[in-house]
Amino acid sequence: MRKRDKSYKKIKRVRIWSSLFVFFIFFVGAFSILAVLGQMLFRYAVEERFINEYQLIKKMADVYDSPEFSDKKKFEILKMEKRAFAVKEKDGKYIYRYGNLSINEDGGKVILPSSGEKINVYADTIMPFIYPKDNDIKVNPAVLEKIYDNINADAFKDKDISEKSDETFDIDITNKDSSDEVNTTDINDSLTIINNKEVLLLPYWISIEVNDGQQIMYCRANYKIDILDVALIMLLMLSLVFMTIVLVIYIIVKTVSTFISQKRIFNVLYTDEETNGYNWFYLRKRGEKLIRSRMNANKNYSLIAISFVGYRNYCMCHSIQEGQKLLRKIYRKVRLSIDKKEICAQKSSANFVILLRYSDEEELKDRINSIISELETIDENHKCAFHIGVDLIPSSKIMKDKSRKKIDLDNEYNNASAARETLSESDDSGVVFYDEKLLEEQRWLDKVQEYQKKAIEKEEFLVYYQPKYNPKTNTLRGAEALVRWESPELGFVSPGRFIPIFEKNGFITQLDHYMIEHVSADQKRWKDAGLNCVPVSVNVSRAHFIEKDLAEQICDMVDKAGTPHELIEIELTESAFFDDKKAIVETIRRLKEYGFSVSMDDFGSGYSSLNSLKDMPLDVLKLDAEFFRGDNEGERGEIVVSEAINLAKKLNMKTVAEGVEIKEQVDFLVAQECDMIQGYYYAKPMPAKEYEERLSNQ
Ligand code: C2E
Ligand code: MG
Ligand code: MG
Repeated sequence: MRKRDKSYKKIKRVRIWSSLFVFFIFFVGAFSILAVLGQMLFRYAVEERFINEYQLIKKMADVYDSPEFSDKKKFEILKMEKRAFAVKEKDGKYIYRYGNLSINEDGGKVILPSSGEKINVYADTIMPFIYPKDNDIKVNPAVLEKIYDNINADAFKDKDISEKSDETFDIDITNKDSSDEVNTTDINDSLTIINNKEVLLLPYWISIEVNDGQQIMYCRANYKIDILDVALIMLLMLSLVFMTIVLVIYIIVKTVSTFISQKRIFNVLYTDEETNGYNWFYLRKRGEKLIRSRMNANKNYSLIAISFVGYRNYCMCHSIQEGQKLLRKIYRKVRLSIDKKEICAQKSSANFVILLRYSDEEELKDRINSIISELETIDENHKCAFHIGVDLIPSSKIMKDKSRKKIDLDNEYNNASAARETLSESDDSGVVFYDEKLLEEQRWLDKVQEYQKKAIEKEEFLVYYQPKYNPKTNTLRGAEALVRWESPELGFVSPGRFIPIFEKNGFITQLDHYMIEHVSADQKRWKDAGLNCVPVSVNVSRAHFIEKDLAEQICDMVDKAGTPHELIEIELTESAFFDDKKAIVETIRRLKEYGFSVSMDDFGSGYSSLNSLKDMPLDVLKLDAEFFRGDNEGERGEIVVSEAINLAKKLNMKTVAEGVEIKEQVDFLVAQECDMIQGYYYAKPMPAKEYEERLSNQ
């Protein structure tokens, strides 16, 4: 996986989850602290108050069990509590009832944490909650205790102590045993203080066995919720709400900031510095998503590789800044010509890529042509040219062999640029679609490159010889060595299929060495066998001429074989003369010094090389086979050939006519005094063995 893809995945993965997790842990910690606090509050607010109420009711039960008071007195004292109560026999018969017995008989047991005592508790059926009235609860346990200790039954004589009575009364509470008095004002003060603090009452019932377990006393208890409780509960709730809000805000802020920073990183990742537009990485990511998406399964896409021809020249004539300005203009122009679901990006400085949708190929061609014509006139002072390669990515329905789910735009771009590169020789705008033929060529190229090295090592290249004849005497005067490749993997391959590839990848120099070595060895063997050897010309590629010591290299190879230099001729193709002329002239001069003859191959093909003839001290001029093809027949063609031969003669050069196939051509060349003919008329290129036979038969 590419480095950029890896970083992209990492950035995508960096979500907020890690920091959220840390925050969540922190939140759980804080929540636990709150839970502990809540539990403490609960103990304080519930347990303690329950125990207080229970103890108070127990006191009431003690009053009831006290043998010191008459039943009437007990009842009166108990009524002072102003809470409903009842005493029942075990069989269910009521002995005392006071107040509203709204008791829910289905009770439960509460175990006191301190003593482990089990207390029977019942809910209240009528009033789950009551708001306290001023006089509802009057007695604080401490005060009641004092009353119980100092009670004087006479104090209640003639007083209305029914539950409904709001009457306040002074009780003459004197100690039965002592004369200490309890000040009723103190009592009332304490009561008021309690009242002011109360906010809510939650009634429930407690039962206690009395009279040695013969009877049961039910008594209404009140769970009092005062301002402090409410304040604490509120505080707890507020803390929870606050923490939740903090968590939510944190999540929102974190998410938003993460997405913003992610977006910024992606912007950097997706932007090309030169044009400020999208780069190839963006197009690849977004494009693959679009093409793979099920929604677009029926859409045809095409990847267009555009190259601005002569960008370097433009920069040299103007400036790099001007060049970049033009690239930005090109990018903007292309962007304007595509719609939202299409993408354009800069691949590298003068190369752009567009992902276009299309319905049919004709429509796509029209669209591309209109983009080219707009781009060609983008700079009013300079006619720009663009090479365009197109790779089609048809809808999933049409693509039977490969699923679009696995589409790799790098491959598609490679195809589009392979198509574009076929235009590389031209300076004009052009469009080439990538097709099966190109694919085949590409596969072939891969195969040739894969096997080339092994082919040299295993001597899979064969030297074929094509004789050159003197047409006047019909005698063998020379031959040309032509390579053939007998490959176990590729079969018998003619040079036209691999020489251009070797010329491009530079392997041609190794092949040329191989040929010189083999021809030298053959010539030496034939000479030693006493055959009447004639010079054999070997093709030396133009790429070879970059090497300054080419003449010495050739000399060494021929000498190593022990072959006389006059038996080897070096053929240079016409295009070689376009390179460093001085160096070529020097190499030719040295080759000649070493005793090799040098010929100009394919004279007359391609560009005119008349000019080269002026400076090059060549020995042989090989007239290109094209002179003898159908189109050049007739008077004009003959004039050109005849003048070329005359020119060669005047320059002291021998002439060889290539590609001669018919007798009329031979007759014409005899009349023109052409020195040699190399063509199918005399012989096709043949294996060394066959050529050897010809040599021995002459
Ligand atoms: P070339 O050097 O011009 O070789 C002549 C080509 O013309 C040969 O094709 C030969 O078979 C063909 N030919 C000769 N007479 C006739 C004829 O009467 N009719 C027709 N139709 N063709 C004829 P070949 O062998 O296929 O070679 C093609 C080219 O490949 C050569 O053109 C040469 O440029 C290159 N080549 C071949 N062998 C070598 C080599 O060992 N090294 C280098 N650098 N290039 C080579
Ligand atoms: Mg040749
Ligand atoms: Mg030739």
